[in-house]
Amino acid sequence: MTTILRRKVKILATLGPASASPDGIRALLAAGADGIRLNASHLKPDDIAPLAAMVRAAESEAERPIALLCDLAGPKLRVRKGTPVQRLELGQTVELSADPAASAIPIEGFDPRRDSPPPCRILVKDGKVVLRVRELTPTGVVAVVERPGEVGGGMGVNLPDGDTSLPSLTDHDRACADAALAAGVDTLALSFVRRPEDVALLRAYLGPRAGRVPIVAKLEKAQAVQPETLVPILAASDMVMVARGDLGAETAPEKVPVLQKQILRSARSLGVAAITATEMLESMIREERPTRAEASDVANALFDGTDAVLLTAETAVGAHPALAVAACASILCEAEAHLDLDASWVCRSQEPELRDPVGDAVAMAASRAAEQLDAAALVCFTQSGRTARLVARYRPRTPILALTSDPDVARTLALVWGVIPHVCHELPVDHEGVVRLAETLAGESGLVRGGELVVVTHGAPIAARSATNLLRIHRVSTVE
Ligand code: PEP
Repeated sequence: MTTILRRKVKILATLGPASASPDGIRALLAAGADGIRLNASHLKPDDIAPLAAMVRAAESEAERPIALLCDLAGPKLRVRKGTPVQRLELGQTVELSADPAASAIPIEGFDPRRDSPPPCRILVKDGKVVLRVRELTPTGVVAVVERPGEVGGGMGVNLPDGDTSLPSLTDHDRACADAALAAGVDTLALSFVRRPEDVALLRAYLGPRAGRVPIVAKLEKAQAVQPETLVPILAASDMVMVARGDLGAETAPEKVPVLQKQILRSARSLGVAAITATEMLESMIREERPTRAEASDVANALFDGTDAVLLTAETAVGAHPALAVAACASILCEAEAHLDLDASWVCRSQEPELRDPVGDAVAMAASRAAEQLDAAALVCFTQSGRTARLVARYRPRTPILALTSDPDVARTLALVWGVIPHVCHELPVDHEGVVRLAETLAGESGLVRGGELVVVTHGAPIAARSATNLLRIHRVSTVE
């Protein structure tokens, strides 16, 4: 039987130099990570397969499905790799262009004359350094340093007042998506989504492979979080990420808390699972303990309704990757004892964009019944993972045991609020078979004892892979 973690909000940890080894990944999983992120911004396509193999080896040892997400860089600008770190002082003027011969700070894929005419701002490293464009030159722009700091190769660049001329899906993204799928990555994220068509572009590129791979739209552009764009992007995506690092640079740090609440609320209304990312435990890049403000931030992401939190630099380049995951798990477990504080979300069925209104009605009824009857487990037999996601939307206190025959579906469910995914190798053929399986597995997992109630949902007839349309409340007689 799968190892059971009862924490409801999931933890996704980014691999990097501090953690990308068999022992490093094992330590992240032992500390409670439910998923691993490969950040393609810093990888070559050929790097992906060996990393994925390490994650899958650690997954087998951990004996639970682990989500493996490859985060495609999208149209993200960066200072050209290998550029030496240099300090820019207040008031200094610097020339920027795509051409390393013409600029001390070359930015890959940058068309400065078109992308950032005066007086646009150019932000480096999520806004730690700010430059303002003063004039155009034949090959680029001259900018004045407004916020001083260090700039060097690989650092991200944002143009909050302009837009990049890079395509929404670059050649590097295509090559990384191919390598990721070939290596058994189960989830893809796309950075700098600006419109629903960007997600559709990736889906079209994946073609028949898209069916089983959830796509996470990373929300980090101001235009993506406007109400008229946000809902269509959510409707086009399987999951979303509040990518607070770039979002704070593209909008402003003070706008992030409200945007986080708005995005999480909209995502939950539409049954789209959401990840809240970046600077969750920033001080743990160096320290062994989080600050009080960071503990509050992680807990508040939970109260805002997030499905998962993403640790970025903490686990990629920090001094204590496993301690950061463990600290995150402790904060979440403590906050989960007070889920009643998450009272602000009013669940409306029949959202116009909701893709499966019948499944949602069953999910709502299942969730309510489980709470009302104090059921020991809510068992979803789910072939695509959809029912488990819809049930999770109602945030029942009851553990949601998702049974699926597809290991990749189980892995993607590892990032969904409250869901305990389990791969069952023998498929039941009829309703009684599902109930027997639910009873056996709920018993084996230790979630339920004889005499307790379980709430079971599935689609009937099973052979037709029907969407969820059935709810049964079952009293467990014997537990094997
Ligand atoms: C972010 O900007 O918050 C983020 C998670 O994206 P990346 O790590 O790719 O910058």
